[in-house]
Amino acid sequence: MRKPVIAANWKLNKTIAEAQAFIQDFKPLVENISNVEIIVCPVFTALAAASESAKNSNIAIGAQDIFWKDNGAYTGEVSAPLLKDAGAQYVIIGHSERRGRFGVPEADLEGDAGKVFGDTDASVNAKIKAALAHDLIPIICVGETLDEREADRTDSVIEAQVKAALDGVEGVEKTIFAYEPVWAIGTGKTCDSAEAGRVCGFIRSVIGNVTNQEISDAVRIQYGGSVKAENAAELLSHPDIDGALVGGASLKAETFAPIVEAAFR
Ligand code: PEP
Repeated sequence: MRKPVIAANWKLNKTIAEAQAFIQDFKPLVENISNVEIIVCPVFTALAAASESAKNSNIAIGAQDIFWKDNGAYTGEVSAPLLKDAGAQYVIIGHSERRGRFGVPEADLEGDAGKVFGDTDASVNAKIKAALAHDLIPIICVGETLDEREADRTDSVIEAQVKAALDGVEGVEKTIFAYEPVWAIGTGKTCDSAEAGRVCGFIRSVIGNVTNQEISDAVRIQYGGSVKAENAAELLSHPDIDGALVGGASLKAETFAPIVEAAFR
């Protein structure tokens, strides 16, 4: 039995005080939920305060990105030891917003500026290795764009992302994957639960092919993309969907708590 895992991706939202207030409001709503891993991922600047607020609770803290070197001349980056120092136990890696939405520039930015985040399969792989080397659990995001889905390339895109992410990685059983179809993120469009489950099952089979079945059976795979209280139970009822990565609906304690409850089996 894989333990369900529900993570909040707050993206570029919440000050330190707002993060602390969320955790104070959220704690009593989930305190009786014992068999679900609950993770909240604030911005870097709120990590330490959020982890202090979540002390002695069933809420764990994750970061939204990581750099693969531990220290040195890398202005602006944050490494695994520093994330751990701030109280993080998990880290989201390769979110489509960090992969530069797969190279599609943001509408309000000129030229190449939209590609600044620039995660690639290679940097995602390096980040996963750095996280695991420091006992941070990576939440590895993969997913296809709308163009790729419409061109019937969903499975080949996902397969390539999963294989590249895991290249040379030791400790795959500790990782969490998040299947996040790019067209479903922040759009209100949820992937049909049967299709979301099918792709999560496909991810598990690719993991099995590059490792072995014992490992692929152990890896938790989340679905992410416009998850909310109304669709969480149906998505989570699929045997290959072990949890959810939640953006918009995780910003308020009262909209995030019912999603956690839906995972409580
Ligand atoms: C996300 O940010 O990973 C996400 C899935 O966002 P949303 O739930 O808002 O679609």
